[in-house]
Amino acid sequence: MVDIRNFTYEELVVKFNEFGHPEFRVKQLFKWLYDKCSTDFSEMTDISKEFRNFLTEHFKINRFEIVDYSKSKDGTIKFLFRTKLNDLIESVLIPIDDRITACLSSQVGCAMGCIFCNTGDRGFDRNLETWEILAQLIEMVIFSDQKPNNIVFMGMGEPLANYYNVVKAIKILENKYGFGYSPRKITLSTSGIADKIELLGKDVNVKLAVSLNAVSDDVRDKIMPINKKYPIKSLIESLKKYPVMKDEEITIAYVLIEGLNDSIEDAKKLANLLKGLKVKVNLIAYNCWGDRDFKSPEREKILSFQKILKDHNIMTFIRDSRGADVMAACGQLRGQYEKKVS
Ligand code: SF4
Repeated sequence: MVDIRNFTYEELVVKFNEFGHPEFRVKQLFKWLYDKCSTDFSEMTDISKEFRNFLTEHFKINRFEIVDYSKSKDGTIKFLFRTKLNDLIESVLIPIDDRITACLSSQVGCAMGCIFCNTGDRGFDRNLETWEILAQLIEMVIFSDQKPNNIVFMGMGEPLANYYNVVKAIKILENKYGFGYSPRKITLSTSGIADKIELLGKDVNVKLAVSLNAVSDDVRDKIMPINKKYPIKSLIESLKKYPVMKDEEITIAYVLIEGLNDSIEDAKKLANLLKGLKVKVNLIAYNCWGDRDFKSPEREKILSFQKILKDHNIMTFIRDSRGADVMAACGQLRGQYEKKVS
């Protein structure tokens, strides 16, 4: 039986209609499923018994098992969930000032193979279904008793490689009868699937973050193999077409790796590449893991890189790796758990 959270509002209206149930039933249901984060049809007490029976006969609401969680000194809570198919996926709650951001995974593993990423190193298993994307948030709300203010698709996986299910999840997240997140509160982060970026801008309204990390195809090919399919030029072209909301920017994430992409020349090229785009740049010092030879540049070097971009009037921030002490780079909690039980 299918999980009811696989369907958007509009899809449920059509489905329920076939059985003679009016649209207001979908409104009631969305309130329970997403505003109240209910995981049991029998709790939905203001819905008629007859309709609850119909729901139970045709749909189910699955739960994830929390296999492990860890709380960082900065308050970040990282969850390791076991799905119904026995996969392990990670999600994170990140408190920043008085706001909470939920970071969701979109795939089990990832096929993109970014060289600086633990998830990419472990390969791809499968796409998450829409309900599995939403269930991460629902389980974290139930656990923490707090509704996050912001949602970011920055967990395991490349969200645009699971386009259909991710777009459905975004539509559900934004529906006013459920969570009701404004498009400004949802950010999708991509490694740069240029044609899907263009499509996304037509299908939903969300903030976009792009992991760029290099200014030449030579270097980007090496650290982000997706660049061979969508080189920097095509990626920048897709960003030019993306509909950026008023008073917002596309976030360009740039992981600085010593000796690879952190020179003054690189900074100047980056400023040139981003000319005319509505962007802000987040510089992130490489977060070391495993046996990789990469190192993070010295702070001085990061500051010089930032200065070049600022001199070119590009908003540029140096971001800390939140939750570094709970292994916040994607895939690291799963890796630790699997080592523990093997
Ligand atoms: S950084 Fe993101 S896109 Fe790249 S391999 Fe890791 S999960 Fe995939």
